[in-house]
Amino acid sequence: MKDTMGRNLLVLSLLFFSHTTVHAEPAPTAIANDPQNWCDSVTRAIPRIKMRTCIAAKLSPVSTKSVSGRPIMLREFKPAEQARGRVLVVGGIHGDELTAVSIVFRWIELLEKSPGDATQYHWRIVPVMNPDGLLAKPPTRVNARGVDLNRNFPTDDWFAEAHRYWHVSTNRDPRRFPGTAPGSEPKSRWLHSEIKRFKPDVIVSVHAPHNVLDFDGPPAGMKAPSRFGRLRLHRLGVYPGSLGNFGGLKEGVPVVTLELPHALKMPSEEELAHVWRDMQRWLKDNLADRRVAQQNTSANAERAEDEPSR
Ligand SMILES: [Zn+2]
Repeated sequence: MKDTMGRNLLVLSLLFFSHTTVHAEPAPTAIANDPQNWCDSVTRAIPRIKMRTCIAAKLSPVSTKSVSGRPIMLREFKPAEQARGRVLVVGGIHGDELTAVSIVFRWIELLEKSPGDATQYHWRIVPVMNPDGLLAKPPTRVNARGVDLNRNFPTDDWFAEAHRYWHVSTNRDPRRFPGTAPGSEPKSRWLHSEIKRFKPDVIVSVHAPHNVLDFDGPPAGMKAPSRFGRLRLHRLGVYPGSLGNFGGLKEGVPVVTLELPHALKMPSEEELAHVWRDMQRWLKDNLADRRVAQQNTSANAERAEDEPSR
């Protein structure tokens, strides 16, 4: 009995020491909760974003963590006066689309520096929606559990279509696995609740490398942008469980998707400036109209409530 206990203790000690030796790196949670460490990991993974740019982005962790314990990092810009509209920006839902993260950091930098029209909106910006995929070696489209977050949103057609589509149309492509249930992944669940909480007028989501501009929605008063820089409108349609399907069709929040031309190579500085300028112009033209349309709708609803019942 004593011998058995001694052996068990020895085995436990060996297991403990081998475990601590093999996993000498800090746990993802420790990395992620410190912005310095978080930026260190992220800037090693993505092109053309320097450590100082990442630190200057002043990202704060939100409470939800990925399946590997990495939090979502978010930057908020809120005007002192009443906002002209609310914009939710999401980069890097697919971890191997590195430029889709870089460009969002650039936008944060521009908002920080430019006191123009853009600062009149209330922005909530998540540059890295899938840190597990981005920080995998090599980076992966899917999260740490092998789920494509952009097929995991609780769209109306998820139960009927998500797995059928995955089997039939993608031939069970592991890069497009929609998960075992809608909203099974912490990050897609968080984005779902963020849409409910923040009530954005528009969601801007960035991907690569299909080199188009896509638009899903729209409710009244907002028309699709024809182009941002060289990205031209080309509606790709929606997929079961995709953000465009969930935001644009189910939640009634227009989703603009930028598909950059390369996943690893950033557009030129000139093209980046052009994209930003066109996006600002489109927001300016359309958010005000959407707000007016919404106000009219709620005013009509109030008038209808005030009418005496017959
Ligand atoms: Zn993508």
